[in-house]
Amino acid sequence: MDECIFCRISQGDIPADKVFEDDTVVAFRDLNPQAPTHILVIPRRHIATLNDIDNDAEAIIGRMYGAAREVAAAEGLAEAGFRTVMNCNEAGGQTVFHIHLHLLGGRMMHWPPG
Ligand code: 5GP
Ligand code: ZN
Repeated sequence: MDECIFCRISQGDIPADKVFEDDTVVAFRDLNPQAPTHILVIPRRHIATLNDIDNDAEAIIGRMYGAAREVAAAEGLAEAGFRTVMNCNEAGGQTVFHIHLHLLGGRMMHWPPG
């Protein structure tokens, strides 16, 4: 997926402020943060949307949440709390079609979300 911006970040072809990486996932700071801390956790494997998760990919989703938990703790967000969000397709607000978990913290979150 040469044209996918998040695949290129995962491969190191495009710079990003990475805070965590392992064989399965990469986490980096969002370019347009919506909270004092706004980090994206992506799988290295290209998966376009949550609709495209198959049985094999369910383990990847688990690892994404595990990494989000580790990053939240490292960023000092665990005790106060934080939000994780994955947008799916147009009505869900998805703009980059390589799945990513938003990790947002450092301020009070509102509900319902906009
Ligand atoms: P979505 O709207 O698809 O749920 O979220 C996409 C997110 O990716 C947005 O928050 C946007 O700011 C972020 N983003 C898009 N392009 C880049 C980029 O090249 N680098 C980084 N770090 N974030 C990006
Ligand atoms: Zn991709």
